[in-house]
Amino acid sequence: MADTVKTSKHQMPKGLGFLWEVSKTLASINDAQNLLLKLKDIFQKYFCTTNIQIFIKDESTSTLRDFVKSWIVIEKNQQQELVQNIFNKLKNSGDKGFIINNKLLKFNSKEDLKEQFFSILTESKNLLYFPVLNEKTLTGVIEISFDSVSKEVQNSEFLMALRVAMTQINMTIVNKILNRHLVSKIKFQQVMKSIAKLIETQFDLDYILPIIGELIDRFVSDHLIYIFTKDENGKFKLFWPLDCQDENVLSLLPKLTNSKSHLISKDGKTGLFAIRNEEKTIGAIAASSNIDKLSKTDIDYLCQLSAQASITTQRANAYAQVLKYATLDALTGLNNRRQFEIRLRQETANAKRNKKPLCCIMLDIDYFKKVNDTWGHSAGDCILKNVAKIISHELREYDIASRYGGEEFCILLPDTKLREAAFVAQRLRSAVEKTDINISEDQVLGIDTLKVTISVGVSEFDNNSDIPEKLHQSADIALYEAKRRGRNRVVVYDESLE
Ligand code: GH3
Ligand code: MG
Ligand code: MG
Repeated sequence: MADTVKTSKHQMPKGLGFLWEVSKTLASINDAQNLLLKLKDIFQKYFCTTNIQIFIKDESTSTLRDFVKSWIVIEKNQQQELVQNIFNKLKNSGDKGFIINNKLLKFNSKEDLKEQFFSILTESKNLLYFPVLNEKTLTGVIEISFDSVSKEVQNSEFLMALRVAMTQINMTIVNKILNRHLVSKIKFQQVMKSIAKLIETQFDLDYILPIIGELIDRFVSDHLIYIFTKDENGKFKLFWPLDCQDENVLSLLPKLTNSKSHLISKDGKTGLFAIRNEEKTIGAIAASSNIDKLSKTDIDYLCQLSAQASITTQRANAYAQVLKYATLDALTGLNNRRQFEIRLRQETANAKRNKKPLCCIMLDIDYFKKVNDTWGHSAGDCILKNVAKIISHELREYDIASRYGGEEFCILLPDTKLREAAFVAQRLRSAVEKTDINISEDQVLGIDTLKVTISVGVSEFDNNSDIPEKLHQSADIALYEAKRRGRNRVVVYDESLE
């Protein structure tokens, strides 16, 4: 044990001291960045002017990443050098091999090793590489660059301590990698669950999609996330966040056809993941970075996340559809009779509570049966749709138009006095009378357009004495009177009509 350096009787041999410090640090510091800083300090004590870096191979893209700043892919030329010189040299030596200044040495013959090791050292800029082995597979290297080794530790015992220390560091790194995978898997499951759960309380895509965007953005932290939906013309438009200047994303989007579930750019840094409704692509989640390639794991996660987003989107769409048909008339898009009854109750209650006027217009197309009999039922349908359009166009936003029956429409006009309502009714009647309604949507009838007229009844709600039904019953009586007087006219209800 002639090489052992003992500075005092009570002090540990240098090699053991080094090992002790490394072990203590590995056991006590959890955060990778701090751990590396502390290891640098320890190494500095024994190797002068030291830097330590750890490079880990990304198993899917084969790029080398800085282990501590795990999102950083190291420079291409440095990568090539490391992979060609170091990885290939270390590949078959298991945990015994290490490299000093480009030369492969093995921890087997102590004395011989010591001679070799110290003879290879130069005055400055020495590079030492140790393997990071995960289940015997070389997954990374630890690089230690230093100018010199302090004289007192230049012995074989120290080299053995170094070997044990490096094995311990190796184990810690591998544990951390596994831990990262595990944490990422748990986070992924949480995001999947959150997206699935969204549908339990929310059905509005305007609300759901930004939340999905934020969840995925937080999860895939190395890449920026965008969500696109398709407009009426089938073109992608940005939905979340507010701005996307990323040329890589924008130029890749048109290539995401219906047949593709995802698409990765040539450089591997940009990915598009389809949001689908059955066979159709209705949107896309984009992930993009200037630096990092998408790893195989990223791509796998994003595919699953976009599938989950698709299910949530489909459910929201289906619910919106159900909701729409439960309240709207399928042919005209106006409120249906059921919805009219609900709104009638709401509006009469409002009028009573706020002491505001409320009027009702009932209108019926004149001689509609003749239209059907002469031009066919679909021509009749065209008329109905177009009259509904004219009604919607002529009304204010807060008027409530409904299809009350076959060719009868009913309009509630909140905060409107009888005189104004009668004026609106005249305007409607005149607008319908003037319009040439297109009736040859898909069939050849010999004529393209037709004119129809409407008869209109108007009534006002009496806040003090009326029950809700009285409002539209009165309008109906006035409408009947308009028919009786010859049609294509407006009649305002008064009690003498009864
Ligand atoms: P009036 O001037 O007295 O209102 O005469 P009219 O022919 O318009 O009145 P009537 O109530 O006798 O006829 C209404 C017709 O509306 C009968 C029915 O075939 C037609 N109709 C009801 N619903 C629809 C529909 O959804 N589409 C079509 N094309 N026709 C409908
Ligand atoms: Mg009619
Ligand atoms: Mg009728």
